[in-house]
Amino acid sequence: MAIDFEVEPDFQKLLDWTKEFVNTKIKKVDLLWPHDIYKDMTPQQAAIINPLKQEVRDMKLWACHLGPDLGGQGYGQLKLALLNEILGTSRWAPRIFGTQAPDTGNAEILAHYGTDEQKAQYLKPLLEGDIVSCFSMTEPQGGADPGVFTTRAVKDGDDWVINGRKVWSSNARWAKFFIVMAVTDPDAPVVSRMTMFVVPAETPGINIQYNFGMAGEGPEDVSEALIKYENVRVPQSAILGGVGQAFAVAQTRLGGGRVHHAMRTVGNCQKALDMMAERALSRYTKGTLLAEKESVQQMIADTYIELQSFRLLVLHCAWKIDKLNDYKKVRMDIAAIKVQTSRVMTEIGIRAVHLHGAIGTSHELPLMGFLNSGIVLGLADGPTEVHQVTVARQLLRQYKGTDSVWPSELIPNLKAEAELELLGEVFTQTVPED
Ligand SMILES: Cc1cc2nc3c(=O)[nH]c(=O)nc-3n(C[C@H](O)[C@H](O)[C@H](O)COP(=O)(O)OP(=O)(O)OC[C@H]3O[C@@H](n4cnc5c(N)ncnc54)[C@H](O)[C@@H]3O)c2cc1C
Repeated sequence: MAIDFEVEPDFQKLLDWTKEFVNTKIKKVDLLWPHDIYKDMTPQQAAIINPLKQEVRDMKLWACHLGPDLGGQGYGQLKLALLNEILGTSRWAPRIFGTQAPDTGNAEILAHYGTDEQKAQYLKPLLEGDIVSCFSMTEPQGGADPGVFTTRAVKDGDDWVINGRKVWSSNARWAKFFIVMAVTDPDAPVVSRMTMFVVPAETPGINIQYNFGMAGEGPEDVSEALIKYENVRVPQSAILGGVGQAFAVAQTRLGGGRVHHAMRTVGNCQKALDMMAERALSRYTKGTLLAEKESVQQMIADTYIELQSFRLLVLHCAWKIDKLNDYKKVRMDIAAIKVQTSRVMTEIGIRAVHLHGAIGTSHELPLMGFLNSGIVLGLADGPTEVHQVTVARQLLRQYKGTDSVWPSELIPNLKAEAELELLGEVFTQTVPED
């Protein structure tokens, strides 16, 4: 019997250390510089943050999403899930632990598909935590359907020349390199139509036309870029994973990324529940604590139940990834938690804001940020509806229909079969087929 919900004592010690470290040290950095995670650090920030990164390395907790061959710890996704629950409650913790999106996903595909030169040029500094990167796939005319992408890369002598527009290319303004998905064979089926290119940020022709801002961001922090690629010339060696392989590369990247978002979201759901409980036990109205009102108790109970169900789904998915070691085999589970990540965070976020009253809606608490992240996570890495389709398709592959006009679970007919087998005679009237 291998199912066991206990954490190994040695790893539990690391989790306890992480929680203490995040709560006592990193959350202070969050308070000082909430919007600077992807920017180059100022000397003042570096003086404070680099020693924290070193502490993480000393504890052997750096880049836990990667194997030891790439400077990570090879803990696997299940342990990473437990760690990310803690890191997800802080803005800076993922960077200080070398596990922040979108760089984790970009590192994963470079590790998986990159040549030795690409690994040396891009992966190594990324893993050192010295630079940030950008994944540039979505286009203004559509994000959820790669069939509408038109950004084109055309072969010109030994080079490729990229032209087109991309949008929601997160952190482009601070990125040191871009992973760009471009059509290389417009007549091919969508799965082999596009190729991935790794492009250094200083390459001429990468023009950021506009930066969209997310709710809560000040104008100086806006970071979702609309980019015009104008005659961006790259050598053949810029190709990541082979011509026509972009779709497969993207799926590898997005699979892991979605799971990591879910893991971090578990932590934020827990934080929202903690805040709800504290508020319910602190505020009196109409002669009782909020915690004594049945409607508030229902909110707290539903939050706990949804959080625990979601957490188990995430942990089970992480366990399956470790077990099967192939994202394709875990597609349905990943799509399911992608749907739940947004749903559960949004539901819990609304409840937590509501329970806090007016102050819940303010900048002065993190709750609107949680709620906003729930909504955003229903879109980033693909909308909920697309993932529901994936779940349904994968699930339905495990079933087959019946040729009968009646469902196979029709009780009188099953009962008649049981009577014949066990009693040797049929007593029940069956429902005729025709
Ligand atoms: C914060 C954030 C960061 C992002 N970062 C990046 C990044 O770094 N790089 C990058 O390339 N992209 C990034 N994206 C883009 C993201 O991947 C897309 O927003 C996403 O794929 C949805 O595309 P869209 O916004 O064009 O919405 P659309 O594709 O227009 O979808 C809008 C709505 O239409 C409906 N819909 C769409 N398709 C279907 C369908 N098949 N069936 C039923 N209904 C459907 C859904 O209701 C959906 O919510 C980011 C997005 C956000 C919000």
